Amino acid sequence: MGRTGRDKRYDVVVCGGGAAGIGAAVGAARSGARVALLEQAPFLGGAATRSGVLTYCGFWTQAEPPQVAVAGVGAEVLDALDRLGGMSGPIRTERTHVVIALIEPEALKLALDRICGGAGGIDVILHGRLAAAETDRTTVRSAVALDHEDMFALEAAAFVDASGEADLAHFARAATRYGDVDGRVQNGTLAMRIGGIPRDADISRVAWAGAVRDAKARGAERMTKEQGLVARLPHSGEVIAFLADEAYDARDARSVSAAERHAREQAWAYVEAIRALPGHERAYLIATGPAIGTRESRHVVARAQLNGADVLGARIPPDTVALGAWPVETHPGPGVPSIWKRLRGDGAYGIALDTLVSATHRNLFAAGRVLDADADAFASARVMGTAFATGHAAGVAAALLADGRSADVAAVRAELHRQNAILDLEQEPASR
Ligand SMILES: Cc1cc2nc3c(=O)[nH]c(=O)nc-3n(C[C@H](O)[C@H](O)[C@H](O)COP(=O)(O)OP(=O)(O)OC[C@H]3O[C@@H](n4cnc5c(N)ncnc54)[C@H](O)[C@@H]3O)c2cc1C
Repeated sequence: MGRTGRDKRYDVVVCGGGAAGIGAAVGAARSGARVALLEQAPFLGGAATRSGVLTYCGFWTQAEPPQVAVAGVGAEVLDALDRLGGMSGPIRTERTHVVIALIEPEALKLALDRICGGAGGIDVILHGRLAAAETDRTTVRSAVALDHEDMFALEAAAFVDASGEADLAHFARAATRYGDVDGRVQNGTLAMRIGGIPRDADISRVAWAGAVRDAKARGAERMTKEQGLVARLPHSGEVIAFLADEAYDARDARSVSAAERHAREQAWAYVEAIRALPGHERAYLIATGPAIGTRESRHVVARAQLNGADVLGARIPPDTVALGAWPVETHPGPGVPSIWKRLRGDGAYGIALDTLVSATHRNLFAAGRVLDADADAFASARVMGTAFATGHAAGVAAALLADGRSADVAAVRAELHRQNAILDLEQEPASR
């Protein structure tokens, strides 16, 4: 690409401003790097703000009492949300007895603006879509973004792919894989935010499932699922629900568009169905998505793969750079009930640095749901608490590499310790 005045050089470029991208950008900046954080949406937050996924999972173990498994950048985000009155938790859910926090999307947008602004050295570029990458054999040279003006290059010594779709790895021609080894992906779901339901109304899954079944018996169509997560937001009292499942190819705009059109029909049908319940008569749809929530798309093929046996066995290897604490939670297809498997002792497992380093491109790191994992391991490591942690680790590793310092496991762990990340459950967190 010919240089233009809008091209710029950084130490680290992070593609994607979701949980993983925030962890990576702040972690890299705190390690001394000049960072570009590229996000196509008009705000940061990823699935939480773009797709209405407003329950943070993976920050705590499922033990009684729960233990903190993710601190560092993730804990800063929780603290900032708390200060804005935009979070309730940790709380244990009724049916699955898992530990989550409920968050308000507007509070999250502001909290993330402030955290990235306050970290120093992060150039946040919203409304910029990664459209290409320039590589020199096995080294990524630049990420090429597109806005309403033209293309512009973000050059750097190291890159973090936190795009959820592994767009950067794909455009850089690094090795990627769609879904698990057989090309299967978990289904997506369009979130619904519903108003008009008083706080004392029964919003249990059982009550809603009954209403959906009754509506189907009366001839209603289109609703794929009877039961899914239904929860009330802490501040607004709005109800969120994950019911409208779809199967589609997240890489293909036509496929995603068709899924979203169909899912919006589903959302209206669900609201119509629940209006039959006591206290739900005035229920109305505040918002869907806005974008459908994609659980799984491409993964970066890394130097190592996180495997389900180690995740379920809650093993913490010596090369751990992040902890995962969420059970294995698989969504096998539209309308098919989710499958849960608990971790041994309701503990946590370690995620090795090599699962975040591209197998083919020496200066490319993976963070969040693009990490390399088999189906069971992915079904746990994909959640947002863990994405903050893998992002933090990838950002620190990228910054060390960019600075010419060693990005080996010992150096990355030492820097993560300095930045209050948790690498072992025995460790006392600095906050939370
Ligand atoms: C329906 C659903 C329910 C879920 N429930 C939960 C839950 O309750 N709790 C939980 O913790 N997790 C949940 N998850 C999982 C979780 O939301 C994701 O796995 C997590 O958000 C992954 O974080 P990430 O930062 O890797 O990716 P994302 O949050 O997907 O962020 C990726 C970011 O990259 C940006 N991006 C992508 N491509 C480009 C490009 N080419 N150029 C510029 N920007 C780009 C996107 O706009 C996005 O902001 C759920 C997921 C879904 C879909």
